[in-house]
Amino acid sequence: MSATSWRDACWGTLDQPWDVLVIGGGITGAAILYEAARAGLRVLLVEARDFAWGTSSRSTKLVHGGFRYLTQGQLRTVRDSARQRRQLLEDWPGLVEPLGFTLAHFQGDRPPVWLYQAGLALYDLMAGQWDHQRYDPLSYSLLVPQVRREGLVAGLRCAEATTDDARLVLHLITEGVRAGSTAMNYVSATSLLREGGVVTGAHLVDGVGQREAEVRARVVINATGAWADQLRGELGAVQRMRPLRGSHLVFPAWRFPVAQVVAFRHPHDQRYMSVVPWEDVTLVGTTDLDHRHPLDAEPTITGEEVAYLMAGVTAVFPALRLGLEDIVATFSGVRPVVGTGQADPSKEARDHLVVVEQGLVTVTGGKLTTFRLLAQDALAAAGLGRLASAPRRAPAATLEASPPDGLAEWTRRRLQGRYGLGAPALVAAAEPGELERIPGSSTLWAELRWAARNEWIVHLEDLLLRRVRLGIQLPEGGSALLSQIRHICQQELGWDDERWLGEVAAYQALWRRHYSPPDPALVPNWRTTKPEEVAEAAASLRQSGQRSRGRVLVAALGAVIGACAVIGSWRLLRQRRLR
Ligand code: FAD
Repeated sequence: MSATSWRDACWGTLDQPWDVLVIGGGITGAAILYEAARAGLRVLLVEARDFAWGTSSRSTKLVHGGFRYLTQGQLRTVRDSARQRRQLLEDWPGLVEPLGFTLAHFQGDRPPVWLYQAGLALYDLMAGQWDHQRYDPLSYSLLVPQVRREGLVAGLRCAEATTDDARLVLHLITEGVRAGSTAMNYVSATSLLREGGVVTGAHLVDGVGQREAEVRARVVINATGAWADQLRGELGAVQRMRPLRGSHLVFPAWRFPVAQVVAFRHPHDQRYMSVVPWEDVTLVGTTDLDHRHPLDAEPTITGEEVAYLMAGVTAVFPALRLGLEDIVATFSGVRPVVGTGQADPSKEARDHLVVVEQGLVTVTGGKLTTFRLLAQDALAAAGLGRLASAPRRAPAATLEASPPDGLAEWTRRRLQGRYGLGAPALVAAAEPGELERIPGSSTLWAELRWAARNEWIVHLEDLLLRRVRLGIQLPEGGSALLSQIRHICQQELGWDDERWLGEVAAYQALWRRHYSPPDPALVPNWRTTKPEEVAEAAASLRQSGQRSRGRVLVAALGAVIGACAVIGSWRLLRQRRLR
């Protein structure tokens, strides 16, 4: 069925009474769709733009316990994330993969390294694992050869994981649809329907077909992330969201090679930064700033953010002599953070929020890693708690699907993780040569064909920025490959020459404005101060001005960690005994 007739067919079924209407097609909405569909409910999900267009394609790609949240005392977030990570690694190999996480600790960094080490022990206890290590500077620089040796006190390592965030969303949506639900991209919920003061549905507008419909459901769930206040506002609810922008620089892996995550304190303000190996690129992020732009516009990195990230990364990796000319792409996302009025955005908790207002269930906040908890809590709040407490089954996709033999183990794992039950059909649909990797990336040509044929592509940007990630992995957003991609799109999507040229023009304009390397003329000079001077200045500032406050913080954190370690060990021992 072509994409247009598929949309028409879906649109024709909208007037049925749905059990659940999910508004928002990021990780949270997708997870609700997935859980509810597997329980046999009739679910409709609508996404105003493309699936994962919002924050869920713009994360740092870590499935992690959020060790840094431990140092801020966000123990619930850490515990939940650590447990979810372990579960996701078990359930979705090939899509969620283990990745080492290291911390480079320099002179003057706070809290002291011994406290970090204690924190890692607690972290592992919370995650039900024991997999962390401390390295002396020499051993750490063998692990991360390009890191600055001057002032390096120690390195720490623990076990985390990584994923392709947009593919994780697609995977959940695909499985939810396979289980009998409906999901439509480019359909907005423009207002809520109410009967007797209770929300019973929404008014929908199709951004592709220019048509409108009123849809009713037993339960309406607002899973619109940073946009959550827009629908809540219709009910007169108090605004809760504090949208925070985070941006990344993308370097080719050959230019900035790291084998594990390297986290460190930014020498200017001691915020955490991380360098993440992902697919065939290295991500450097992230910033954390109040986002004061309209949420419906693509978020974009500013020159100041570029300078901030470059100052941090060149101070810690001076030997690489990285410059703006090495950046292959940039991207920004907006965190759906529930505001509590903290002056420093980074101090806002990353817990999730579930509220029921006039029957509308809103679920927002949290992290990519904790998507299952968000879905379960939302369904419980909607009175569908039996789903939330149903025994968790491993997804059928990874158990049953198995692409044919003859593929390298790495390729099998990748395809099975990303495409689940669809993996064998993806391989079968590949034309000669399409099981090869696209040069400069880990993506196979066959993935493009499969996505174009089956994954609800409306625009070229859907294909290149979210189904596969060539738009943020290759120079010029993959423009050098457009003639081959044209062939696939015209075959699979039926686009004529005029449509193709229009799509290319729109994609390239979007890429230049929001994903391209920065214009050097707009980036303040981050090199005016030498890295060592920055580090020294930051260290002496902290030592003189903040010594007493630091001691109090360290003592308080030490007490919390000590108490938690005792409780954690006791629980772990008790669990082992019960088993
Ligand atoms: P979104 O993904 O934003 O989805 C909401 C969707 O709702 C949007 O696509 C939007 O278009 C749609 N929508 C809005 N209004 C309407 C409407 N009226 N009708 C229909 N649709 C609508 N978490 C981690 O676990 N690990 C990380 O490494 C990590 N790194 C991050 C780095 C950055 C820079 C940022 C910004 C976040 C990061 N996070 C990370 C957090 C994580 O990405 C988010 O918590 C998560 O993606 C939020 O998902 P969501 O589904 O709630 O929101």
